[in-house]
Amino acid sequence: MKPELIIKHARRFATPFRVTDGKKFRLRDHDPADTLDFTEKDKPRAKEALATGVEALAELQDKLYAQDQWAVLLIFQAMDAAGKDGAIKHVMSGINPQGCEVHSFKAPTSEELDHDFLWRCSKRVPERGRIGIFNRSYYEETLVVRVHPKILENQKVPRELLTRRLWKERHEDIRGFERYLHRNGVLVRKFFLNVSKEEQKRRFLARIDTPEKNWKFSAADSRERAFWDDYQHAYEETIRHTATEEAPWYVVPADHKWFSRVVVAAAVIDALTSLNLAYPEVGEKQKAELAAAKAQLLAEK
Ligand code: ATP
Ligand code: MG
Repeated sequence: MKPELIIKHARRFATPFRVTDGKKFRLRDHDPADTLDFTEKDKPRAKEALATGVEALAELQDKLYAQDQWAVLLIFQAMDAAGKDGAIKHVMSGINPQGCEVHSFKAPTSEELDHDFLWRCSKRVPERGRIGIFNRSYYEETLVVRVHPKILENQKVPRELLTRRLWKERHEDIRGFERYLHRNGVLVRKFFLNVSKEEQKRRFLARIDTPEKNWKFSAADSRERAFWDDYQHAYEETIRHTATEEAPWYVVPADHKWFSRVVVAAAVIDALTSLNLAYPEVGEKQKAELAAAKAQLLAEK
């Protein structure tokens, strides 16, 4: 497929779900089962589109790596069983592993708690030329921590700093951090895989009923379901306050995995094509060196 056509398709899938200004953002305007005008019948076509997208991504990544100027940071957040792992696996499947790294952020260790909340993530920001993926991130600090304020008590932040302004301040600090990254040549894109409560239940039941999926199920995940509404509120607030032009959120409908993967791939393609990536130009001196090396190789007996 021609590059212009790929860009056009990518925009078509990505733009409807992009949030660059959170002021009017409301989660209830976003249907987790949305598939634009595609139906189950189009699933094979969607899979083909994903395959084409993955190929295009591999090519873009190759240029990103060769150019060695921009870095790309993709952040994934979601409720359990929304399909984060699968989306990461499928979308990145064609990419050269040397140019890509995935980091998962779990409950912080005691060493991590001895630092400011951005510390552990900022250490993992990808280097230039690379794509870095955060499977969960510093956003947990305004999600799980907000839903369970008890977690804050175990953090070592001085008590006098834990005021009613805390969430507002964290949003502000995150915006500042992402602006800083952007200004340094790190392109940031954030994905909220938006699954419905009903679909999560279906997936949990499948994890319980299918022996090969048992390992994916944890009782803690289903306990978190009791806090569903609090999480929805925390996500809404977070997206409202941290969606910006330079670091947009994508609210990806996640009830249909085949569709959510296409949207994620499309958003990453859209992001990478916005960078005007190109292979570095070879100068006169290097051209002469190439010619000399060629002559030498051809002269070998
Ligand atoms: P999986 O899909 O394998 O279950 P996961 O990302 O859910 O992946 P888990 O080990 O199940 O991994 O869960 C990690 C847990 O760590 C989540 O419940 C998350 O909310 C929690 N967590 C992440 N960051 C923080 C944080 N800063 N403070 C407290 N808890 C956190
Ligand atoms: Mg989990």
